[in-house]
Amino acid sequence: MLKTFKQGGIHPPENKLTCTKPIRSLPVPQTVYVPIAQHIGIPSEIVVELKQKVEVGQMIAQSGGYVSSSIHSPVAGTVTKLDKIIDSSGYKKQCIVIRSDAAEITDRAELPLKMEIEMDAEAILNQINSCGIVGLGGATFPSFVKLHVDPKSKIDTLLINGVECEPYLTADHSLMLAKAQEIKVGIHILLKALHIQKAIIGIEANKQDAIQKFAEICKNDTHIQVAALQVKYPQGGEKQLIKALLNREVPKGGLPHQVGVIVHNVGTIFAIYEAVQHGKPLTDRVVTVTGKKVKDPGNFWVKIGTPIKDLIDAVGGMPEDTRKILNGGPMMGKALKNLDVPVTKGTSGIVLISNVEAERGPAMSCIKCARCISVCPMGLEPYLLMDLVEKNRPQIALENDVTTCIECGSCSYICPSHRPLLDYIRYGKDLVRKN
Ligand code: SF4
Ligand code: SF4
Repeated sequence: MLKTFKQGGIHPPENKLTCTKPIRSLPVPQTVYVPIAQHIGIPSEIVVELKQKVEVGQMIAQSGGYVSSSIHSPVAGTVTKLDKIIDSSGYKKQCIVIRSDAAEITDRAELPLKMEIEMDAEAILNQINSCGIVGLGGATFPSFVKLHVDPKSKIDTLLINGVECEPYLTADHSLMLAKAQEIKVGIHILLKALHIQKAIIGIEANKQDAIQKFAEICKNDTHIQVAALQVKYPQGGEKQLIKALLNREVPKGGLPHQVGVIVHNVGTIFAIYEAVQHGKPLTDRVVTVTGKKVKDPGNFWVKIGTPIKDLIDAVGGMPEDTRKILNGGPMMGKALKNLDVPVTKGTSGIVLISNVEAERGPAMSCIKCARCISVCPMGLEPYLLMDLVEKNRPQIALENDVTTCIECGSCSYICPSHRPLLDYIRYGKDLVRKN
């Protein structure tokens, strides 16, 4: 029987329309808008000036502190503005605007496979830090900080997240098919950096081609195990993946290293491979652009800072009856305010949702059916948390663990009364932070 996590979880329709599509290169945009706060932690500090010429991969903003990350120019060009623009959060954020010198469409420069790992552990960590690598599964936590663990933590296992359980998204799936060998080298880079011997790559059973590919290339590798997982949302959550693969429980409010584990997403592993083996900073990533009515949905290599409207043009334009444009998948993604919002390191997908799909029934009273409780992977009581937030009782919501919510949206999805549970819980988390 395939492994999975035990508490909660749902099975939303997969709608992986782009799972067989290879990754295409998006044309280099005329202008990129690069936010200086596109990771968890302290925003980066701008180190370029107006009208300055920059090269691809040149650092344009340096890490602003320990939990931060440096940012590099995605294009060769000229800094034309240092300005605030609306990013995917819906708020105006400081950006570095660069006009590109590229006159035409160029495919991504593919780097040769390099197997031998020359750097020692310390050099690997420094390289990951200086190349601005952050978690590409959506969390955008600086990878260097995640790997810089206290030796007392006694890490014994590296888990590689190839789950991609969000409906519609296939960026990680397409990357696993296109860059399996590079990801395998990336896993060995991290084993060396962490001084450990064991990695497990977890892939859900709806990606048989990726499972077979990794099983084949790792069959004589005594350090990497490939594990097929039952399809269940939100298995890509760190705590759920650790439970599914190792049957270990991360304590409430705790982190994976407390149970001897470090988790990295396959996209992050590939970025680490390119940084360590080729010195390439993180300046682009794979993004799925999709939707049921989209003419030519696909997976794309996209330069960080590319406006979302360029991605929509690349899939044949916006379908007429589009109601919502989501940054991310339908479960955890957030609606975008406009099409000028730039792709950032955390953008895994853009999903265009039609009028019919966006239809949400009117919110009705809670009928105390407890379905939201039964699907919550964190063992919370979503109906109660919403009630507490509605009544402006953030302290009691805190006592009921509102901050441990991973914002998976399973409760809102299952609620027969269409109650906007996650909206309120997110708001409650904000209130707790501000209090
Ligand atoms: S699922 Fe909806 S109706 Fe049922 S208990 Fe939860 S909030 Fe109430
Ligand atoms: S969004 Fe939060 S409260 Fe709702 S099911 Fe997910 S973890 Fe539980």
